[in-house]
Amino acid sequence: MFGRAPKKSDNTRYYEVLGVPKSASQNDLKKAYRKAAIKNHPDKGGDPEKFKELAHAYDVLSDPEKREIYDKYGEDALKEGMGGGGGHDPFDIFSSFFGGSPFGGGSSRGRRQRRGEDVIHPLKVSLEDLYNGTSKKLSLSRNVICQKCKGKGSKSGASTKCLGCQGSGMKVTIRQFGPGMIQQMQHPCNECKGTGETINEKDRCPQCKGEKVAQEKKVLEVVVEKGMQNGQKITFPGEADEAPDTVTGDIVFILQQKDHPKFKRKGDDIFYEHSLSLTEALCGFQFVLTHLDNRQLLIKSNPGEVVKPDQFKAINDEGMPMYQRPFMRGKLYIHFTVDFPDSLTPDQCKALEAVLPPRQTSQMTAMELDECEETTLNNVNIEEEMRRKQAQSQEAYDEDDDVHGGARVQCAQQ
Ligand SMILES: [Zn+2]
Ligand SMILES: [Zn+2]
Repeated sequence: MFGRAPKKSDNTRYYEVLGVPKSASQNDLKKAYRKAAIKNHPDKGGDPEKFKELAHAYDVLSDPEKREIYDKYGEDALKEGMGGGGGHDPFDIFSSFFGGSPFGGGSSRGRRQRRGEDVIHPLKVSLEDLYNGTSKKLSLSRNVICQKCKGKGSKSGASTKCLGCQGSGMKVTIRQFGPGMIQQMQHPCNECKGTGETINEKDRCPQCKGEKVAQEKKVLEVVVEKGMQNGQKITFPGEADEAPDTVTGDIVFILQQKDHPKFKRKGDDIFYEHSLSLTEALCGFQFVLTHLDNRQLLIKSNPGEVVKPDQFKAINDEGMPMYQRPFMRGKLYIHFTVDFPDSLTPDQCKALEAVLPPRQTSQMTAMELDECEETTLNNVNIEEEMRRKQAQSQEAYDEDDDVHGGARVQCAQQ
């Protein structure tokens, strides 16, 4: 256990917490913190106190300025504000170190340090890309902390509280209009551009002109793995714009699969439409299907087999590779439609009747038939008719809804 009552001049405890000698390099500190922080993270059942202790020790020792104060005067000197800045949230230290949670998913704990925004880019991919896997190089420009001033914006490292806003970054204007009528308006301070601090003109960092950040071009290689899905995210933790005192956000690519002219994907399966002539449906067929990796698949019917309209057949293990298990594959479904001839000549009918099963002959007598009513069969486009009927009934429903439509309006406003 680590007691919370160190001796006044204690300047070794932080090293002990991290398990490193006093001579430890920045790299040693990093390695020690990484190992211990993962082991003791509360999300993994670690002791929250120990985790806090680790973060605090690392926060101090990783900052050369604070480390020097600690080495010379001990912990209390830092508490008295000589190191400036005060302590940071242990979870923010942890996530800024790892650029997000290494366990996946963000921690829902309250954060004291601001987190920069994630930058989201859609990334168009073809079904071939998702089937075969690919990588795409993308050049992006982003803000990085200025190397010269380490994000301080000044040569000396000093910044002064903005006098215009007392360091809050916001200004409040009060307008009076009429007796006792006051309007308060809050807006970002114009003197410090909302940062709450100003840098002396002469002290400004020549590299970034006091902006604290610089533009950097960066090429990211986005690896699209076999079997990834439309809408899947590929995250580059901590690669978004950097800003002082801010945990850098992530760059997130969201895959957008372009429609394929021939194949449709559903999960791990692929659907393919194929139409057969009536002869092929009855007497057999074979055709070549070019797959998403350009392999030629020979597809043929079994001898004597008849394929019916709207029938599905499946080829196992020719669907999509499964994500992170690319040797497992879904199915390739083939949906058959049959093109019937529009009409036949009497001779063709005779020839077909000779080989096809006989018709069902009517069991009715001529007199019984005489008593039936004649009808006409009209051609229809059934889908269109059904759509029209649906639209009509929807209209009727909407009208009905208007009568007691209050509830719907309320819902829309929420
Ligand atoms: Zn200001
Ligand atoms: Zn600078």
